Amino acid sequence: MSRIETEARSLLLTRREALQRAHDIHGPARYAPEEVIPEAVPAPSVASEIAEVEAALGRIAQGSYGSCSSCGGPLGLQRLRAIPEARFCLGCSGHRPADD
Ligand SMILES: [Zn+2]
Repeated sequence: MSRIETEARSLLLTRREALQRAHDIHGPARYAPEEVIPEAVPAPSVASEIAEVEAALGRIAQGSYGSCSSCGGPLGLQRLRAIPEARFCLGCSGHRPADD
């Protein structure tokens, strides 16, 4: 396992634990959709973030971590350190035109 993989893995495991706690506290089962508490993290985004983190852990286990899921190019150390669960390189994630 490379250094960035080891680093990312421990970050992702910590993140997953925190997200799972948030998910348990603010989970969708506890509130009806219209009862959104302003301070609470919206449950769907917590659940999807957990899924992203788990997907990244899976890529580390498979040895495909750090490659863009779109073009296969390297994501780059800086990007992985900033967003360990990133799956697209800057070029591929930046296709959305800026609208402001
Ligand atoms: Zn790419």
